[in-house]
Amino acid sequence: MCLKKTLTLSEDAIDVPPFGKFFVFGMQCKDAECGFQKSDVESEQPRDPCKITFTIEKDKDMTVRVIKSSAATLSFPQLRLSVEPGVDAVGYISNIEGVLQRFEEVLKAEKDIAEEDEDKTKCKNLLKKIWKIKCGDVPTKMVIEDPTGNSAIVSDKTVVEKLKAKKSKE
Ligand SMILES: [Zn+2]
Repeated sequence: MCLKKTLTLSEDAIDVPPFGKFFVFGMQCKDAECGFQKSDVESEQPRDPCKITFTIEKDKDMTVRVIKSSAATLSFPQLRLSVEPGVDAVGYISNIEGVLQRFEEVLKAEKDIAEEDEDKTKCKNLLKKIWKIKCGDVPTKMVIEDPTGNSAIVSDKTVVEKLKAKKSKE
């Protein structure tokens, strides 16, 4: 967290039919040494906890809009890759290509610092798989679980389920 005067705040409202308005909050420190940044999204209308599943099947799916809040878990179960909510978690509005790019960047960085050949190979293989997914060659499920409901995948193909609460009513 940064509390210097170099910290700038931004707020944007983006209309996402058919879900309505989403607010995008950003914090960014202009001090190059600090580099603190954080972002999040929130729906104007309160929404229910949700589990959203989208199957990426073709290259055209790359343009499908994705809204992920910082409270959401985003995962590619078939690749065993996921981002969990936490202190460093961010929320953003992007598209599927952008989401895959975020994973690619992390994997590339991991590959560069990996000391074991085995770890390097694992990263390389995952990067290859992501490349194939981007081309639409390997159908892959993307899942977002959001207890705040502030996430969405904007497509007719999206499957939305209620997110089961961890506390049971029985
Ligand atoms: Zn700062």
